[in-house]
Amino acid sequence: MEGLNLTSDVAIVGAGPVGCLTALAFARRGARILLLDANSSVGERLSGEWLHPAALQILESHGVKLPSAESYATGEGYVVFPDDGTEPITLKYPAGLKGRSCEHKSLVLALREAVESHPSIHFISSAQATQIEGNKLHFVDALQGSMKTVTAGQIVGADGRASWVRKQLGHPNGSTKVSLMAGILLEDAELPFEGFGHVVLGGPGPALVFRISPRFLRVCLDVPSRDYNSKAASAYLWNSYSSVLPPSLLPAFQEALQNRPILWAPNQFRSRAFYGQEGTALVGDAVGHFHPLTAVGLTLGFMDGECLARSQSFVEYRKERSALTHVPELLADSLYRVFTRQDKGTVALRSSIYRTWRENPSECERTMRILAGLETDVRQFRKAFLKMMRSAVPGILHHTLVPNQWRSMIASVKGFVEWFKWLRTSTEIPNDSRA
Ligand SMILES: Cc1cc2nc3c(=O)[nH]c(=O)nc-3n(C[C@H](O)[C@H](O)[C@H](O)COP(=O)(O)OP(=O)(O)OC[C@H]3O[C@@H](n4cnc5c(N)ncnc54)[C@H](O)[C@@H]3O)c2cc1C
Repeated sequence: MEGLNLTSDVAIVGAGPVGCLTALAFARRGARILLLDANSSVGERLSGEWLHPAALQILESHGVKLPSAESYATGEGYVVFPDDGTEPITLKYPAGLKGRSCEHKSLVLALREAVESHPSIHFISSAQATQIEGNKLHFVDALQGSMKTVTAGQIVGADGRASWVRKQLGHPNGSTKVSLMAGILLEDAELPFEGFGHVVLGGPGPALVFRISPRFLRVCLDVPSRDYNSKAASAYLWNSYSSVLPPSLLPAFQEALQNRPILWAPNQFRSRAFYGQEGTALVGDAVGHFHPLTAVGLTLGFMDGECLARSQSFVEYRKERSALTHVPELLADSLYRVFTRQDKGTVALRSSIYRTWRENPSECERTMRILAGLETDVRQFRKAFLKMMRSAVPGILHHTLVPNQWRSMIASVKGFVEWFKWLRTSTEIPNDSRA
């Protein structure tokens, strides 16, 4: 592969988690891969750290060696701390399934090690892609100080949310900003439910807390964009979240806000509607991305890579992924809004979701099957959502019996009708035109 003009079966732009996994998936099928990344090193970054069981299985099937998780509990599921002060709700993965969490940097380093030691993958770091012309990809190899061109049977854009490949194909970024995420590390703190991801509601946005190593917990705090003020960030985070976080975390939370850097990342949404075109496919965040509340970005991205490598054609890839990723997208979009909106219809719906999860183990299981990517049938999602909506109705009607509560009832009904409309339009069975 040496020289200024290279040839390869597949050229992949971006060696983040999804680009590396896609390279391994193609290599397993006997392809020769050129993998490029603009950055020479893997830095600290607030990004994906929770892996659903499917993602973990894919990594294991490629022999990717993550740091050992034997000395800490992880990957059991989630515990939701409701905003109405009621008891936490446990949502466990279905029997036999386990996810895990680990520091993002360790995940990328483990994947980079796997691609670098693979004989069919040629990895060039510090390689900035500059132009695509048909099946030719031009790039600058910064370490060698030269322009190079690879002629490839297939070009893959695995270059993240701001995808350059996507733009080359004439598709604008199209992301909308949802909120910001502040990330901090808590040292030597104990989780109330070790092994589980904690979703704590009641602050300005959801707080996510989970263990990423024997010593450290990751805390991700969702901050509405209007509240962001870099100079007063520590005080803001303490004032906004210390009253809702489990008390056992507070000493370490205070210590971290005083002495540790806060990492920030924008939370964005772009629907998974464009997968590229024949000869130039997109995978991972380059296709679409959602709020990290449901932690599905890595899982969906790894599945993209696997699917692309085994597909006979681009159309087959696009069709399969469009069909299978619609439900995770709906769940991520709806859950974030259900957990953050304060209109009366949404509050009623939220209470109903808490109640359903508490009282109905099969609904808990359905939620976790959707979250884990095992349930991708849009009809199942609609059924589950309608069930939650139906069980919110008595709470809303209750207002009609209370004198002077008519206004409140009308506001609830209005909010409810909005959700109903959303459900109707968003759960129309997607067809090929989505891609
Ligand atoms: C705060 C936060 C928390 C999250 N938590 C989770 C979680 O717990 N679980 C989960 O599954 N997901 C989570 N996500 C989402 C997850 O991080 C992403 O889905 C995942 O990182 C996407 O991987 P990727 O490889 O597609 O893109 P990226 O990780 O963005 O990698 C893209 C790579 O492409 C390279 N690149 C870009 N442009 C070029 C170019 N022109 N030439 C060469 N190289 C280029 C970059 O250097 C980078 O290495 C989170 C996201 C955020 C923001």
